[in-house]
Amino acid sequence: QNDFETRFNIPHITDVFDDAVSIPSTFCLRMRTPVSEEFARGYPSDEEWHGYINKNDRVLLKVIRYSSPTSAGAECIDPDCTWVEQWVHRAGPREKIYFRPEEVKAAIVTCGGLCPGLNDVIRQIVITLEIYGVKKIVGIPFGYRGFSAKELNEMPLSRKVVQNIHLSGGSLLGVSRGGPSISEIVDSMEERGINMLFVLGGNGTHAGANAIHIECRTRRMKVAVVGVPKTIDNDILLMDKTFGFDTAVEEAQRAINSAYIEAHSAYHGVGIVKLMGRSSGFIAMHAALSSGQIDICLIPEVPFNLHGPHGVLRHLKYLIETKGSAVVCVAEGAGQDFLQKTNAKDASGNVVFGDIGVHIQQEIKKAFKAISVPVDVKYIDPTYMIRACRANASDGILCTVLGQNAVHGAFAGYSGITVGICNTHYVYLPIPEVISYPRLVDPNSRMWHRCLTSTGQPDFI
Ligand code: ATP
Ligand code: MG
Repeated sequence: QNDFETRFNIPHITDVFDDAVSIPSTFCLRMRTPVSEEFARGYPSDEEWHGYINKNDRVLLKVIRYSSPTSAGAECIDPDCTWVEQWVHRAGPREKIYFRPEEVKAAIVTCGGLCPGLNDVIRQIVITLEIYGVKKIVGIPFGYRGFSAKELNEMPLSRKVVQNIHLSGGSLLGVSRGGPSISEIVDSMEERGINMLFVLGGNGTHAGANAIHIECRTRRMKVAVVGVPKTIDNDILLMDKTFGFDTAVEEAQRAINSAYIEAHSAYHGVGIVKLMGRSSGFIAMHAALSSGQIDICLIPEVPFNLHGPHGVLRHLKYLIETKGSAVVCVAEGAGQDFLQKTNAKDASGNVVFGDIGVHIQQEIKKAFKAISVPVDVKYIDPTYMIRACRANASDGILCTVLGQNAVHGAFAGYSGITVGICNTHYVYLPIPEVISYPRLVDPNSRMWHRCLTSTGQPDFI
């Protein structure tokens, strides 16, 4: 058998319940069996040909092998530049399942902030559960809070209910931050008889999902907890991209285009666009790359000075003198050192950031006033307009596959896992591995250098 060494093991129901029995999958795969003899040659016979994912199927994390550390650049993690082959579990439907559909009560919960595609994932989870034969499917309203708030009733879900929800943004179930303790959540799950929980959210939500998974195991509850990473910032380790990111970049371009037109049409116009990205500048970098209208892109991973001979303001002066206008895009987490710390936290305990866009706007006005050069600064913060969008076509497809695979993973008996895409293939990963820290833009990566080539900006240090 293909027993590749895996980088990660993922928790399975049989790890704790030796008596867990599997039954043949109730999910009907409609993959075509080989039709012609020629095609079938070298393939298994019709009876063996089923298309289900074998538990030993693996996806390779890194596909490039560099001949020297200098060509690999910052991506080289190994001084000899021979990649240690890292294989992870392939996602998809299994031939044997560990839950009888008639005994399943599945719940879906969405937490944290909004992200394009949430409804697409909810919809696909419900549709796939129904195809397995699950009758009891509910939505937990307003994030983890819905587990404890007496006034909030669980929402019965079916294909009919979710049929058109992907046509609008937001979450059918509602979202929230903060909420009950893990033991309260698990108490509530026990009371409601939930044995499959699908959790859509970011790093905080996933930390919660993993804690719920562990608590269920401690209580010896036969429960599958499966996450679908929702982070518009695209800051999840190992994954090619997360759903909503593509839509965010596309929408960000509209804001950038408006800023460009405003700046370009004004005398000495400067447009500033603040984009999402608390610790990672992927949206800002990709929006700069795709729009081609950005002169200065500022991200949290790359330190910069505003003032001084190599500062942003000096370069802006140069741009005004030579081009007549300029457009800046800045990720929300960039330059936080310049702002007064407030120690404010949101309900989930996340630090509330100061507004770097407003700060840059004020500093530009001051600096140009000091040298008596007129300047017309316009600041756009499109955050909520972007978050509330419906998913674009490419995110729609990603959400569909992630939603289906979440259900396949739960039926296969996995728990404490999350679904993702690595090297264009869909995989299951253990939750703790992907949330240990946020994925960052590598300032020495080719992509960031491509961005610098495109904007033409110098180093601001
Ligand atoms: P976003 O990317 O939108 O911030 P998030 O999932 O990180 O998404 P949070 O508001 O941080 O959003 O957390 C969502 C939920 O997860 C909240 O209900 C919060 O109470 C819970 N949570 C956050 N961190 C943890 C943790 N370490 N352990 C358990 N639960 C957590
Ligand atoms: Mg978070």
